[in-house]
Order: sequence, then C-alpha cells, then structure tokens
Amino acid sequence: MIAGNLHRIEQEIQESCALVSRNPQDITMVAVTKSVDSITANELVELGVTDLAENRVDKLLEKKQDLSHHQQIKWHLIGNLQRRKVKLIINEIDYFHALDSLRLAQEIQKRAAHPINCFVEVNVSGEESKQGIKPKELHSFIKELEDLDKIKVIGLMTMAPYEASQEDVRKIFSTLKQLQESVKEQNLQYAPCTELSMGMSQDFKTAIEEGATFVRIGTALFKKG
Ligand SMILES: *Cc1c(COP(=O)(O)O)cnc(C)c1O
Repeated sequence: MIAGNLHRIEQEIQESCALVSRNPQDITMVAVTKSVDSITANELVELGVTDLAENRVDKLLEKKQDLSHHQQIKWHLIGNLQRRKVKLIINEIDYFHALDSLRLAQEIQKRAAHPINCFVEVNVSGEESKQGIKPKELHSFIKELEDLDKIKVIGLMTMAPYEASQEDVRKIFSTLKQLQESVKEQNLQYAPCTELSMGMSQDFKTAIEEGATFVRIGTALFKKG
C-alpha cells in the first residue's frame, strides 16, 4: 500500500516537472508522518524516503528516537513552534518550516548551536486563522533577522486554504514564488531564499508547476486502496 502510494506520488512529481520543464531532482518530497506510527514511518524510510516531517515537537522527538538506526534521515518541523519548546527541538532538526515572528526567531537565536535552515511562513491567502507573516510585511520582517546569525532563511513556506479552488491555490503559490524571488534578488547572505515549501497531498502538483522545491505530503502516502 505505502510502496504503491509512494511510487504513484513520485510519478506524479515527475509528470508535473515535465509539464513545466523542471528537473525532478530539484524537488524534495517531505513525508509528513504525523498521522502514522514509527513502524509505518520506518517502512517509508526503508523504501528510500529520506525526509520526514512532524508538526509536534514531542512526536518528532519520539520518532527520531525510534528511527535512530537510520542516520540518513533529515527531520523537518512543519508546525507552529511554541517558544518554550524551542530549546527541546531546535538542535534536533534539519529544517524548520514555520518561522513567523521575531520573538520566535530570537528564542531560536538563543538556543541554537548552529545556523538553522528556516522557511519564513507567509500568510498569502490572508485567512485570519492562518499563521504567517503578511506579504506586505515580509521584507521588513526579513530585515529584522539580519543580526540573528542562527537563523538562515533558506526559503518561504505557505499553506493554501483547504477549500480554495484550484485557480485560487495557483494564485497563492505563484504569489509566494514572486515573494521568494524578490527576497532572493537582494542577495542577503543570511537569507539566500532559494527554496519554496508549498504543496500538500491535494495541491502538490500545482505547487510544483508554480516552483515548489519542497512538497509536504501526508495523507496521499498513507491512504488505503
Ligand atoms: C499535515 C500537514 C501537511 C500534510 O498534509 P496532507 O494533506 O496530509 O498531505 C503539510 N504541511 C503541514 C504544515 C501540515 O500540518
């Protein structure tokens, strides 16, 4: 079941890349394991998946412990991170996808032992309930990170609303792409901003067509039948 799902998703990634003449090697499929146990996550790793994501600190630490025999895994924290939990997790992960406030950045600065690969989360859709920096405030936010040498802004991340039409989803992703380019153009050493974390099970093909370099996929990997 998982092998079949994985194979299909890999094929779909290749097809989306082909549509827009991109190289599939430029896409990292991040498997979101929040809904499955360590045994299932282990199965994925044995099938060759190298990037795993969790949205909760305790769950990530638990899986990392359970899968510690696999040295090659890159760990991604994708959810909202509470400041009081930063010290528990920040030196255990390879990527953090949800940087959305200066206070959080300052806490990471205080606790990190080395520069952390961060995505700034942007609330492109403008939904009240969504986390993230407003597009208008992105440049000033990134400027504020300049003196924090433990924060490396490798890219931007967004989530499209679950109920959005495909057309709206595409607009959201292309807006994030434009924002990413506009930060990248500034050639900031602490914010190379070359990456785009966007696209989940239901919209990763659109995300790839619009420039995603990291897609975060959960449900589609684990669904039955
Ligand atoms: C759960 C989650 C995903 C994966 O969503 P699916 O629809 O299950 O693929 C991706 N990104 C974030 C931030 C999530 O919380």
